Amino acid sequence: MYHNISLTSKELKLATLIRRKFSQITLFVIQLSGSKLASSKPCKVCHHMMCVLHVKTVVYTDTNGNLHEEKVKNMETNHISQLSRVMKKN
Ligand SMILES: [Zn+2]
Repeated sequence: MYHNISLTSKELKLATLIRRKFSQITLFVIQLSGSKLASSKPCKVCHHMMCVLHVKTVVYTDTNGNLHEEKVKNMETNHISQLSRVMKKN
């Protein structure tokens, strides 16, 4: 999706620096339904962006409020967010 963008050497250095920083972080994704934890597993678009940015690990909640930790590169998701559905219609 973003692979055909040509970058200047300065932009490439910045992109490499950003990827290096993101590869060291764990991203926590939390969604609330009222005051309770709801499912927050990243959707396909978010998963793609995490892969592009080289995010190492993601922690998210399921519908029972349990925390799940996964390596982004090993994660599988078929979830399509409500925002993606709305954008696809327009
Ligand atoms: Zn998403």
